[in-house]
Amino acid sequence: MHDHKGEAHADIRAAVEKLCAGFPGEYWRKLDRNMEYPTAFVQALTQSGFLSALIPEEYGGAGLGLSAAAAILEEVQRAGCNGGACHAQMYVMGTVLRHGSEEQKRKYLPGVASGELRLQAFGVTEPTSGTDTTSLKTFARKQGDKYVVNGQKVWTSRAEHSDLMILLARTTPREEVKKKTDGLSVFIVDMQKAKGNGLTIRPIRTMMNHATTEVFFDNMEVPAENLIGEEGQGFRYILSGMNAERILIAHECIGDAKWFIEKATNYAKERHVFGRPIGQNQGVQFPIAKAYANMRAAELMAREAVKLYEAGQNAGAEANMAKMLAADASFEAANACIQTHGGFGFAEEYDVERKFRETRLYQVAPISTNLILSFVAEHVLGMPRSY
Ligand SMILES: Cc1cc2nc3c(=O)[nH]c(=O)nc-3n(C[C@H](O)[C@H](O)[C@H](O)COP(=O)(O)OP(=O)(O)OC[C@H]3O[C@@H](n4cnc5c(N)ncnc54)[C@H](O)[C@@H]3O)c2cc1C
Repeated sequence: MHDHKGEAHADIRAAVEKLCAGFPGEYWRKLDRNMEYPTAFVQALTQSGFLSALIPEEYGGAGLGLSAAAAILEEVQRAGCNGGACHAQMYVMGTVLRHGSEEQKRKYLPGVASGELRLQAFGVTEPTSGTDTTSLKTFARKQGDKYVVNGQKVWTSRAEHSDLMILLARTTPREEVKKKTDGLSVFIVDMQKAKGNGLTIRPIRTMMNHATTEVFFDNMEVPAENLIGEEGQGFRYILSGMNAERILIAHECIGDAKWFIEKATNYAKERHVFGRPIGQNQGVQFPIAKAYANMRAAELMAREAVKLYEAGQNAGAEANMAKMLAADASFEAANACIQTHGGFGFAEEYDVERKFRETRLYQVAPISTNLILSFVAEHVLGMPRSY
């Protein structure tokens, strides 16, 4: 067990670590080999209430702040587990919480809090538009008291393990709106009802076990009452949840970096070559020490982002920079860890290669490093917009 004294939310961290101890490397290796979903792990996290951290108590959640959620996800990764299977259950509901009607909140949030309803599918990315979200093609046409949806999403993670999906679709063609960010709307889709009735889900095999899919909408009907907020304002609603997501992913990356650094350090102390521990060689020490320094720097930025967010201030720049620095730090630590292990870094049983593959994702998703740099260049440094 780690000593969490002096860390924010020490009790929560210790409890998460204890829970994760029940899901050691062999558990994840077996799932990874077979590309299976970590159902038992997700159930345990749900039952312990960790995934409902951000849902207010009046809707059955724990009513905690973002710093607590960040601590939970960081510890999951630090323990060698993979929160990617369910982290969205924690924050995708934020769209309903912030922009949904009271009726929608009462209808969905208690079920999400208890885990009875899994709201962990988030349909934004499309194959032809990619990062250029406002060019998305999926269209929801209003017909009386329902919308009829046609189109396709890609990389809709956990769709096969979700009851509900937050869907971003166009409701007014791009040519007919003044600003390209207008005319997009957000819906809450009952996936269980829609499956076989216009919704088709196809898994995508990826380099890591991530339960991601592509989804197709063929005249899928969504009741008009499932529109969240105002029609045409959906892009704004999606954007408003981005800072929390970036901050949480940053903490996951920090947890990963801590796992790699600890694993590398221990191995460097134990492994003897040329009659001495490999960690006695500065060529082995320095990459690990550097990864530690970069992880700590990313951690400070992430803590700053949380502080601003919880104080209700604009955390946009810090949330983005924290996500980028933490993703870089985790991948640098992953690289140092695999190098420290020599050939064994590539052996499945050490878990290093699995975590290496898992943490690489965060250079690309949920937002790629280039797009963060572009945000900083334009919005922080005031340089001309490039796209
Ligand atoms: C495993 C996985 C899970 C995912 N889960 C979800 C999910 O649940 N829901 C969802 O909606 N999406 C999800 N995504 C999608 C993810 O958010 C996108 O992959 C990511 O935003 C990048 O978009 P893209 O893949 O279309 O890349 P593209 O937009 O095609 O970009 C390709 C490359 O070009 C670079 N690039 C593009 N435009 C510019 C520019 N103007 N300047 C500089 N560089 C540029 C990008 O940085 C990137 O490196 C997931 C992706 C993966 C791989």
